[in-house]
Amino acid sequence: CGIVGYVGGERCVEVLMEGLRNLEYRGYDSAGLALAGPEGLRTAREVGPLDNLAGTVQRRDGDFFSMRSGVGHTRWATHGRPTEANAHPHMGGGAPVGPEVAVVHNGIIENHAELREELRARGFEFRSETDTEVIAHLLGEKVAAGVALKEALVETLERLEGSFAVAAVSASEPETVVAARHQSPLVVGLGEGENFLASAVQALLGYTRRFLFVENGEVVVLTGSSVELSTLDGRPVMRDPFEVDWSA
Ligand code: GLU
Repeated sequence: CGIVGYVGGERCVEVLMEGLRNLEYRGYDSAGLALAGPEGLRTAREVGPLDNLAGTVQRRDGDFFSMRSGVGHTRWATHGRPTEANAHPHMGGGAPVGPEVAVVHNGIIENHAELREELRARGFEFRSETDTEVIAHLLGEKVAAGVALKEALVETLERLEGSFAVAAVSASEPETVVAARHQSPLVVGLGEGENFLASAVQALLGYTRRFLFVENGEVVVLTGSSVELSTLDGRPVMRDPFEVDWSA
């Protein structure tokens, strides 16, 4: 339902939580976030109001506050009950590889059942009932095999049917957030030494007024100092940012 991403500075947790709060008006049943650092991924997920997630993050303070990139999600369940196990982010790959990536997703993956069978046959264990988890395992499998995060995302998206906005972080590239969209909105917020991502500009108005829309069939790679937009078939996209002058 709601997506937020952040990379670059020291206020990762703050931006993710604030961004999710600004998307609460859209409704949700659970929420979570994942942060990436060189030593691995840290995730927290909770059913119910964002205060539950905020409480968990506070209690695990030391785990989270040193990390520079992350993604957050408010979920409105379409596939699988509103439980902690079904809340995003979803980790991939599980067996046979360790958790390499954390993925958040808005929308519906129509061919999830067939992809799940294929992944199970290759030894992946599923920990949720969601359509989203197939994305995490497909992506995690490629990253574990040494494919760069952006290429791994592009190859993963080629397998998906349905609608999505997807964002991911990986311990293999902890200074990067990748994302893409098809039939579900996604916008990049531009900062100084930090960059932002969200499913709606409202999430980010407290942090930036400069935005870039991601269009259908585009993938974006964010670091603290760069934003690279391209089509899924690899052509660079040049697009001027726009300024938002209205308030939230
Ligand atoms: N289909 C996904 C799920 O049920 C995403 C739902 C959403 O857009 O929040 O987990």
